[in-house]
Amino acid sequence: MNKVYKIAAIPGDGIGIEVLPEGLKVLQAAADKHQIALEITQFDWASCDYYLEHGTMLPDNWFEVLKNFDAIYFGAVGWPDKVPDHISLWGSLLQFRRRFDQYVNLRPVRLLPGVPCPLAGREPGDIDFYVVRENTEGEYTSVGGRMFEGTEREFVLQESVFTRHGSDRILKYAFEMANNRDKKKITVATKSNGVAVSMPYWDERAEAMAAQYPEVAMDKQHIDILCARFVLQPNRFDVVVASNLFGDILSDLGPACTGTIGLAASANLNPERNFPSLFEPVHGSAPDIFGKNIANPIAMIWSGAMMLEFLGEQDERAQTAAADIMQAIEKLLLSGPKTPDMGGSASTQEVGSTIAQYLQSS
Ligand code: ATP
Ligand code: MG
Repeated sequence: MNKVYKIAAIPGDGIGIEVLPEGLKVLQAAADKHQIALEITQFDWASCDYYLEHGTMLPDNWFEVLKNFDAIYFGAVGWPDKVPDHISLWGSLLQFRRRFDQYVNLRPVRLLPGVPCPLAGREPGDIDFYVVRENTEGEYTSVGGRMFEGTEREFVLQESVFTRHGSDRILKYAFEMANNRDKKKITVATKSNGVAVSMPYWDERAEAMAAQYPEVAMDKQHIDILCARFVLQPNRFDVVVASNLFGDILSDLGPACTGTIGLAASANLNPERNFPSLFEPVHGSAPDIFGKNIANPIAMIWSGAMMLEFLGEQDERAQTAAADIMQAIEKLLLSGPKTPDMGGSASTQEVGSTIAQYLQSS
């Protein structure tokens, strides 16, 4: 019996509503081709319109409903003119990440053929690595406070939280990943020469993990020089692992080195599969281009390929389907119709349909 993959599709706001159907179109074409059973259920929650109608971003029972799915395929959330970001984002996406313990944020940094690279002289193949970002603790906490506000003595304290559990599980994920790749190289982002308590601890946990993976070569780099090397020597990376803040920065810098944000895909993973993982484009809802039918759907489509890859870890058909989607994306980038962000004049649907057609005819 084939497994049925249960997917919750949430378009959200803005261009999320435009690109998600293209992602689903391509996923369905890949699934049909490889006889993979997808069961897709669409939800209108986690959108600003839902909030304006109901006063919350999500219904009370969202956790009970969504936890039964294998994955969440997410468009984008946020429409600051209607609902402030701290309400829309905190009330939806950040709830998913937290309650479903999606502690790995994974972003591929890959230069695809046919995409003009902002870094001079780089060819596809030169840039092909992953940024693994810790997604639940670290520098992003609400622990801290202000005192003597409005006076000369005013001061602000902001704490970071690094637990052994939180550090070890993200490092383990990244080392496992590096160990399964050809280059077997891991770069650990740090700043232990400046951040005197948490970063030496992070380094220590990295050393301890490295001892368990003798075949993986580890390189610790301070975040400042690491950023410079992303730009100057992107070919030296394979898997880069970082704390929440440093990972946030690197996972925007990486895709910026490989072309438009309209291509950047991401996954928020709960690797133990106790809860659904979430797959989404890196970009937001882009109110400035919503309704013009020019949003690039490739980031959404690539995120769908990542979803198949993750869901079907033990399922050869799903792996082949994911690889086929990537091939179809590459074919389009080389010679197919492109949206205006890539210098073309095609519509969102035209790009999605062409990729789906490539899949059907290959
Ligand atoms: P968020 O804060 O939700 O991450 P943002 O407001 O920082 O989002 P985006 O919504 O990602 O930013 O948009 C940033 C810019 O990139 C906008 O000018 C937008 O038009 C452009 N952009 C984003 N996504 C796409 C896409 N898929 N295709 C084309 N242009 C895009
Ligand atoms: Mg925004």
